[in-house]
Order: sequence, then structure tokens, then C-alpha cells
Amino acid sequence: MHTKFLPCFEILCLLIHLVTIAFECGTILDMQLSTKVEELNGVGSATASALRRLGIKNLGDLINHYPKRYEDYSKITLIKDAKAGQISIRARLANIKSLYGRKRGLHVTTALASDATGSMHVTWFNQPYRAASIKANAEYFLSGKYDFSGTFLTLLNPSIELVSDFPANTARILPVYPETKGITSHKLRKLLVQNESVFKSVKEYLPQEIIDFAGIGSFADTLRKLHLPNDSQELQEAIADLGFRELFEVTLASQLLRIDLQKYRSRHIKIKESSLRRFVDGLPFKLTPGQKLTAWQALKDMSEATHPMNRLVEGDVGSGKTAIAAIVAFNVIKSGGQVAVMAPTELLANQHFQSMQEYFGKNLEDGEIALLSSSLNTPRRKLVIDGLKTGKIKLIIGTHALFQSYVEARNLELLVIDEQHRFGVNQREFLLAKAARMPHVLTMTATPIPRSLALVLYGELDISVLAEKPPGRQKITTKLISLSQRLDLFKAVIEQSSPTNQVFVVCPNIDSPDQADSISKTEEWLKKHFPNLGYGVIHGRLKAQEKEEVMSDFLNGKFNLLLATTVIEVGVNIVNALNMIILSPDRFGLAQLHQLRGRVGRGQRPANCFLCLNDNEPPTKRLRLIEKLDDGFKLAEADLELRGPGAIYGTRQSGQLDLRVAKLTDVKLVSKAREAAKEFVALDLKLIKYKKLHAKIVYLQKITNLN
Ligand code: ADP
Ligand code: MG
Repeated sequence: MHTKFLPCFEILCLLIHLVTIAFECGTILDMQLSTKVEELNGVGSATASALRRLGIKNLGDLINHYPKRYEDYSKITLIKDAKAGQISIRARLANIKSLYGRKRGLHVTTALASDATGSMHVTWFNQPYRAASIKANAEYFLSGKYDFSGTFLTLLNPSIELVSDFPANTARILPVYPETKGITSHKLRKLLVQNESVFKSVKEYLPQEIIDFAGIGSFADTLRKLHLPNDSQELQEAIADLGFRELFEVTLASQLLRIDLQKYRSRHIKIKESSLRRFVDGLPFKLTPGQKLTAWQALKDMSEATHPMNRLVEGDVGSGKTAIAAIVAFNVIKSGGQVAVMAPTELLANQHFQSMQEYFGKNLEDGEIALLSSSLNTPRRKLVIDGLKTGKIKLIIGTHALFQSYVEARNLELLVIDEQHRFGVNQREFLLAKAARMPHVLTMTATPIPRSLALVLYGELDISVLAEKPPGRQKITTKLISLSQRLDLFKAVIEQSSPTNQVFVVCPNIDSPDQADSISKTEEWLKKHFPNLGYGVIHGRLKAQEKEEVMSDFLNGKFNLLLATTVIEVGVNIVNALNMIILSPDRFGLAQLHQLRGRVGRGQRPANCFLCLNDNEPPTKRLRLIEKLDDGFKLAEADLELRGPGAIYGTRQSGQLDLRVAKLTDVKLVSKAREAAKEFVALDLKLIKYKKLHAKIVYLQKITNLN
């Protein structure tokens, strides 16, 4: 009897076990990353559409929605020890009362919370359902702020959950998410806790070798720890491991690109020293030490390495990058090669054309330098294209778009890319398709890339930094102006204005109806307050030729005030522009504001940049920074710290360099990521085998695109 019973019992246990497994498997299978939010418990159509506003359509999106910060409620405080601040308690509730204060229209629920050590008051405002939902005698976790309400300390508006439930919103480290109307962190946490099994279906995408090398947790585990950390150690691990992943990807992207590039051969270009000396002596100014060094570095790249130069020149606006391009181009042309200079806009291409003509002087004959402009008629364009094919044209200048469609220069040895951040394309692919052989590439940018970011992106190699500006440059004074001072500012600036004291007024957009500071609204405002003022208008919707006309009219002093959008952001050199007024500066990135103000103070006289706030509120920290710092590099570092790398590779680019967790200032993590990327290369791991990683790398290479 006894012996028979045991197996029966065992079979029963086994059955229960199997059922449990089946049940668990069932839930795991149900909770796929692709499971639509509508299919989840507690998500109605209103919640679903609110979630969609956050970009969350399925569970995969949900776990890809990272917390922005955390509140630590993991420690349970005994009531007798409670002090004012954020606390969690474990208690039963009694004396539950619901009151409606007619006077203030406020609904108040009060209760007395007690644990074995004591009691405290609890108050909820405007939660009329609260009283009915509390069970007497049940044990709860309550998390919230313990603070004075009137004369005594009260736990205010706490989150509350049954101890018998698995807590999502109390008694643990609580992630705080970017929210939208209708979706609170509370709700998001609840969804994550309810669907925790989904983390198990997150697939690893890094090679096991790298995981082992770096000693990090699996992707699934890391994401779970990020959203539902059991303690602060788990949270720290999650942040460190995710940060590693991000930095590893960026570093690997740049290292693979570098290796790739080194497979190409390009021509050695000897440094023709005596000719170069003559060329430099013929320039209208004496080179700064930074210009000399940078030009020398580029010349050396091209004369020594067997693979194409891939140098980035970083120099603040007005630091004289064009002259460097001219020197390097001269050396290439002297050796029989052709040079192309790509600019982001027609305006800028035009300006480069003029500068190059000035810098080259007699060193180029008529017809050896050409501008490929969209305003050329067909026969003239054909002439340029033929000139490139035959090799008659040595130096060609144009916009990126034009090159893409037309250039077939047989002998192209050097490509100069100005203001690279304005292009959102992979230039290398384009070059490979068009050029007979890989040319040397010199990229110039006024967007300072902070050292910490450069280290990750480019391993600090092949970057020249122009630290100083040409001598005699005057400081640009930047001032924040509140709305109430605006009219007085305009009066003063306009009164002073003359053909030798010109003004830019920059608007964030052309004619968006809901924005006060559009070009069209500002025109109305100007007409009202300054009815006799003559001014010009320039923005991206004008045709290239129209833009050029406006610019040359401004240059020639036909009017002294130019109302503009950011089309003037890059490069344009108007020596007589002494004042710039930027409207709604909070709508621009710091790097962009810095670029913009670089449009004034291009001559020898001091200049001003006024940032006109939209209200009379105190300005943000960001705007105070730009008022204080006039060094683009310091500003970029500060911006990086405040807003992350998106501020530098920001909205103006096709993509975002999305470091959501990693801190570039974390030197240890950065070097660990670099070591791991080296390991990847050393082990000769095949990127193509890791689909998701491969896709990420391709994307990163595109958006960082100094290739
Ligand atoms: P960037 O492209 O770096 O913003 P540019 O090449 O347009 O700057 O140069 C800005 C201005 O400074 C131009 O008018 C240029 O002629 C002048 N410039 C360049 N180098 C020097 C120098 N070494 N000394 C004096 N002026 C210079
Ligand atoms: Mg320039």
C-alpha cells in the first residue's frame, strides 16, 4: 500500500511540474518582442495610442524605451525611523477617510499606516477612487515623499501596492521614464513587471568572444536589470554593460572603416617644398602656426602613406581652413593631379571659388579653375564636365549634390570636403563609384568635436586642430536679451547700422504659423516698428540664384539688415557684418548658435551677437553657456556633457549618434571598448555573421561619415 502510494504521489508531482512548465512556456511564447501593446492586459485603445506617441508599438519598443533616471525606494524604512524625504514603508492601513474640500475643489483621502514599530499619516490628493481600493488588514508597500503637510509629517501621494503582489511601483529602485500625456512611469513600470518574461526572448547580438572578453552580462539580462533592477548593484551593472555596448559599437565602426580604407592604394604626392614656399609667400596673409602645422600634416599624409589620406581638420569658424585647403591643393596640382572642393551650399561653393582664385592668383591659368554651379546653362556645364574629363580643369569647386551627379575626373587625387557635418551621405561609396582610384580626402569642419568624442570616433589619429584664430580678430560679445528689451535692442542696432556696420537677424524658421519668430512674423513686426527700413530676406526656399543675388546685394551694402534662416550658418564671409540678432535661440543647438555667431566679427572690428529670448523668464543653463564661452571646443565639451553627443551630431545630420547610456567622459569604459574592438579585429571575427551588430555598424559608419 505504502509503496504504491509513493510513485503515485511522484507522478502527481511530475504532472504538476509539467503543467507548470507548460504554463510558463505558454507565457514565454506569448510574450514576444513583436507582441503588440494592444494585446497586453490593461492596455486599452487610449493607452495604446499614447504609447504609440512614445514610439512604443510592441514589447520590443517598450524595453527599448530606456529610463531617464531612477528613484531608489528599495530600502524599507521602519515607521519609527522615518525622516522627511523619499521613503518606502511596509504597513497596514486603517482610519481610511475620504473628504471633498468644497472651497478648494480638492479631494483628499487620508489614512493611518502602521507597522510593528509605529504609525504615520498618509494623504492622497485627488484620488477619489483610493479609499475604496484599499483593503483593511492587507499589508502594503507604500513609496513616496514623507513631508510636512500643514503642521505634521505625512506620507504624500505615495504609490501603493499589495505586498502579496509582485511590486512594480513601490519598495524597489523605480525607473523614471520619458513620459507623454496618458502614460506615466507608473504605467510603464506596471507593463514591464507584468510582461517580465519578454526579456527572455531578447537575443544576444554580440559575439560570445566579445562578451567573454569584456565580462559583461547577456543583452537580455542587461535590459532586464536596466528596467527592473533588484538592487543598486544590478542597476550599476546594467548601465556599465549597456554603456560598453554603445562605445564598443562606435569604436568598432571606426576601426573597421580605418582598416577598410587602408586596403586602398593611392598615389604618393611628393612635397614640392620650394614651389610651396613661393605659393605661401604669395598668400595675402602670414599663416598662423596652426595653419602651417595642419597643412604640413596633410602634405605628409599624402607623401608618406600608401593608403589614402583621411584627415579631419577641425577649426573654429574664421580660423582659416580655406587657406590650408589651398596649400594642399596646390601641391597636388603641381604633381599633375586634379582637386575637387565640395561645399554644402551654393553660396559657400561660390565663396570658395572666389577665395581660391584669390589664393592661387597666377598659379592657375584661366580655365584651370572652375565652379560647378547649378546656375550654369547646359552648354557651359558641358564645358566644365569636359574640362574635368580631359584634365584641363585642375581645381573644381561645387556643391556635393552637383558632384554626385556630374563629376568624372580621371585624375582626381584630392577631395576637399568642407563642413562635412552638413552631408548626410556616405561619401566614400560615392567616390568609389565615380573615381578611377581612391583620392586623398581632407575634411574640414567648424563643428568642434570634443576630444573625448574624437577618441572614440577616430582614435585620435588623423585629426588636426586649429587652435588659434588669425591675429587681430576681435572678440564676439554674446548677450542674452529678454523679450521686454527686444524693441530697444533693434532700435539701437538699426540706428547704428550702415554699409560698414551690417546686421544679420536670424529666425528659426520661415513661416511656421504657430511660431512667433518666423521670417514672416518678424517681417510684420519690422514693418510695424521700422516702416522705412530697407532689408533683405534669405532662406532655403529661395532658388540658388536668388540667394546669391540677395547675398551680393548685402555684401555691396544695398541694404544693411539681412533677415535670414540658418542658410547663412556655414562659411559666408561678410566682413562688414558687426551685429547678429538671433531670435528664439532656444530653438537652436549650441553648436549651431556658435556657428551662426561666427558669421559676424569676420573683419578687424569687434562684433556682437544678441540672443533674443521669447519671454522674460530666466534663460536656460545652455544659453548661459553660450553667453559665457566663446571657444567652440569648450562649448562643445560643455554641450556634450549637458546633452550628449546628439548635440554635436544632432538634428542637422541624417542620423543621431545615439549614446543613450555611455558617458564619453568615462575613460575606463572608453578604453575597455577600444580594447574589445581591437580584440574583435585580432580574432578576425566576421562582422557579416552578426546581423544586428552588422546593421548597427553600417549605420554608425554612415552617420559619423568622416570616411
Ligand atoms: P574658416 O573656413 O576656417 O571659417 P576662412 O578660411 O573662411 O575660415 O577664413 C576666414 C577669413 O580669415 C578669411 O577672410 C581669410 O582670408 C582670413 N584668413 C585666413 N588665414 C589668415 C591668416 N593667417 N591671417 C589673417 N587672415 C587670415
Ligand atoms: Mg570655411
